[in-house]
Amino acid sequence: MATIDFEFRDQILKNDIGNTLAYCYQCATCSGACPVAQVTEGRYNPRRLILDSLLGLKEKIFGAENSFTIWGCTICDTCDEVCPQKVELTEIFTILKNESVRRGEAPEYYTTQASTILENGKAIPMQSAVERRREQLNLPEILAPDVEEVQKLLKATKLDEKLPKKEE
Ligand code: SF4
Repeated sequence: MATIDFEFRDQILKNDIGNTLAYCYQCATCSGACPVAQVTEGRYNPRRLILDSLLGLKEKIFGAENSFTIWGCTICDTCDEVCPQKVELTEIFTILKNESVRRGEAPEYYTTQASTILENGKAIPMQSAVERRREQLNLPEILAPDVEEVQKLLKATKLDEKLPKKEE
């Protein structure tokens, strides 16, 4: 049986956005509208995640084995739009994702993608083969991003400190 972690529960509830959690009456409108819940046949379930957060059931939310519980959310904001109680689900899930990153439990595909953006200024680095093909097809040149500018912005968010360090 999962244990209630009151400290964790209070940590979310004391936040202005997290506090909206308290208004959830478990109507399941969010789960019914969530596209990820639909394609995963309920394996990802925003209503349950809200309930587990409200009850402080930390061990059901965190841990590598529960990764999809949080990271299944694609931040499409559909749940926020349909919730009759104006619970800020996506923002609450962001609080949980930040905690997951802090605990070193974020899925590798997220941290790898973030590292690629930090290094190249974009998610898919420029490739000479693609550039040549575009030229053959008379497509306009893709302008290279200002990598330094992107790095400056991302470092201001301390992203570089949160990503796992690469092995030398
Ligand atoms: Fe709770 Fe809102 Fe989801 Fe209904 S739609 S279960 S009130 S979060």
